[in-house]
Amino acid sequence: MPESQIGPVIFAAGTLMPVSSPPLQDGALLVREGRIEAVGTLADVGRENPDAEVRFFPNYTIIPGAVNAHAHLGFRRKDAPEGGTFSDWLSSLIERLPEKVAWTAEAASDCAREAIEAGTTYMAESSPYGECLPQLAESGMAGTVYAEFFPHEIGTLEVAVESIVAKVRGLREGLPERVDAQVSVHSPYTVDPESSRLAARRTREMGWKLAIHLSESPEEVEFVRDGTGGLADIFGTNEWGGVGVSPVRYAQSIELLAPETIAAHLATGVSEEDIDVLAQTGVAAAHCPRSNDFLGCGVSPVLGMMASGIRVGMGTDGLWSSPSMNLFEETLFAVELHGMSGATGLELATVGGARALGIEAETGTLDAGKWADLAVVETSLEDGDPEREVLEAAAGGGVAVTVSGGNVIYNRLGT
Ligand SMILES: [Zn+2]
Repeated sequence: MPESQIGPVIFAAGTLMPVSSPPLQDGALLVREGRIEAVGTLADVGRENPDAEVRFFPNYTIIPGAVNAHAHLGFRRKDAPEGGTFSDWLSSLIERLPEKVAWTAEAASDCAREAIEAGTTYMAESSPYGECLPQLAESGMAGTVYAEFFPHEIGTLEVAVESIVAKVRGLREGLPERVDAQVSVHSPYTVDPESSRLAARRTREMGWKLAIHLSESPEEVEFVRDGTGGLADIFGTNEWGGVGVSPVRYAQSIELLAPETIAAHLATGVSEEDIDVLAQTGVAAAHCPRSNDFLGCGVSPVLGMMASGIRVGMGTDGLWSSPSMNLFEETLFAVELHGMSGATGLELATVGGARALGIEAETGTLDAGKWADLAVVETSLEDGDPEREVLEAAAGGGVAVTVSGGNVIYNRLGT
């Protein structure tokens, strides 16, 4: 169980990086009832709040907790399928779904733990019918489970969509305050266009959010455009591929693209014209570069998307396509891949994900009024790029304490 704070607590460190404002030496946060009440120097915040318990980490940097905008918890590292082509990997994954039942829950707990120990405080998780919700809810992180549905397993499209809506309503009962359930339309090659469209309309009319995988692999591009290739072979009964357009255009045509939607990957086959479509619809993106690299899915035009004003967050994906649940490690990979600054990387890993998920009023930066979601990272900050250094430290096991909603959910220092 997370360690709960009763009275006001001051979390302070040698450096505080609110992300929304410049780093502060000997910076402090006053936290009361889970939320940040004040931000300033330890001297000022301490003087104004003499009754607060002080937790000062002099040789550390406090940053906002990582917001993982796209992850799957129910996989384990030790027996990931081979990489190779996306469709080979996917068919291997599908073959092994029956054996996975025995260990999915344990994997989900382990992955949540790994994420927390790497400073993650919010996770957007996608799993079939929301199967990993219990492990996310127990973890101490805040987050959303997007329940994937596969209408061909259920019945007519109306029945299938109503059944996932009812399922998500049920999942929401009895959850911790900051844990939520929503719907995922898994991908263009697993959910038919009419079920996708109906699910998008139904969820939107209720003010719900939606997650999708989109434009991930070369095979997906071929499937949507030509109706051929590895994915067409796997899903032999699918009849809706071959519509002659890009996955982004296809998703637009079936009403999946909207500000409430987060689209994972957008890695392969995203043209300049597609970026315009994404920007106009207001859809957000989750960038998962290590998964894209492992599965031969190319490099997402993420800089172009950001320049067009598309909200971008980072996602680790799951351990069958990615080496870790450490979002800062994922982000450092992106920083190196795209030549980004450390500051841009730190922003993507935190408030970028929060914006993409529509929760930036609640988390993502260290500002008064938001939840106290933070990571305490061991740093020396000696070179000229402190944000890059803190990212490198957090990527390399430097997270010592993780705090979610004011609760210490990980503390390897024992203080
Ligand atoms: Zn995914």
